[in-house]
Amino acid sequence: MPIGEFDLIAQYFAGLTPDRDDIRLGIGDDAAVVSVPPGQELVIAVDTLVAGVHFPAGTDPRAIGHKALAVNLSDLAAMGAEPAWALLALTLPEADEAWLAAFAAGFGRLARDSGIALIGGDTTRGPLSVTVTVHGRVPEGQALTRSGARPGDAIYISGGLGAAAAALASSDSPADSEARQACRARLDYPEPRLALGQALCGLASAAIDISDGLLADLGHLCRSSSAGAEIDVDAVPRHPALTQLVTGDDVAWYDWPLAGGDDYELCFTVSGEKEPKITTLTETLGIALTRIGRITAGEGLVLQHADGGGYQAHGKGYQHFAPQS
Ligand code: ADP
Ligand code: MG
Repeated sequence: MPIGEFDLIAQYFAGLTPDRDDIRLGIGDDAAVVSVPPGQELVIAVDTLVAGVHFPAGTDPRAIGHKALAVNLSDLAAMGAEPAWALLALTLPEADEAWLAAFAAGFGRLARDSGIALIGGDTTRGPLSVTVTVHGRVPEGQALTRSGARPGDAIYISGGLGAAAAALASSDSPADSEARQACRARLDYPEPRLALGQALCGLASAAIDISDGLLADLGHLCRSSSAGAEIDVDAVPRHPALTQLVTGDDVAWYDWPLAGGDDYELCFTVSGEKEPKITTLTETLGIALTRIGRITAGEGLVLQHADGGGYQAHGKGYQHFAPQS
């Protein structure tokens, strides 16, 4: 017999994530009740994943569960927040228990690893779509924003870019090499940079997570900061798996890391006097942090090669409702 809505919630979602002492009421009432300690502010974000738009049809449900939470945690990371509570609105074509078990396993694993508790949600029938809302906390006034970059600040990127875009470009064919599997893992199981985001509070002047492509997201940061940027396109760190698949003669060498998207790394800016602390952070967190350029007083992004020649970008980053041009 197909599982009913309430049994489904009880079986797959109640008890999936660890309890926290700041939860007064979790799953099971009309709404959840949580307590926010004095001196802390809430940081809240929501993101939806739609089948066929955000993940290819036929994606492993474990990856969907992971990614639905990961993309939201990445927004908290970009704000420097510590994750606390999540809500899950799930629309399913049918209550397929094998699908639900795998989805819950992917979601639950990342939730436990990042200390976030699932405190409620909604379950409906319809075309597959997953919406997650996350709540994090920061000390009052400490949240990182997109708007604080100043001319002269250095621009940094965590990790390496372009591997998820490589996987997306070949998502119809099997991942038949180690490098292709590594790219696929970056697309399906992004790792939100939570520890880095929290460490950047009081250090970075501005931050954003790279979800739609470096150029698009750095463009948002620059507009919010009323500034421009100069980028050395050769300094942009490529993910090691990408460097095994394409070389510098290939347009993808530039297009995927600059405009590909789905990287979920952080792009942040730092003033000159605080820059030495970035080296220490690289060591304590064990994450590569690479300087790719600087903020300017101008407008827009100026892209250059290491030898000083100009670079013309092809892609512009992903937009759901792209303007006709
Ligand atoms: P209501 O009808 O009052 O909106 P629901 O019947 O939708 O309540 O949900 C019952 C309880 O189960 C609520 O506490 C809700 O937050 C929780 N819930 C529903 N769906 C999910 C889900 N997919 N994950 C986690 N909690 C859920
Ligand atoms: Mg409801």
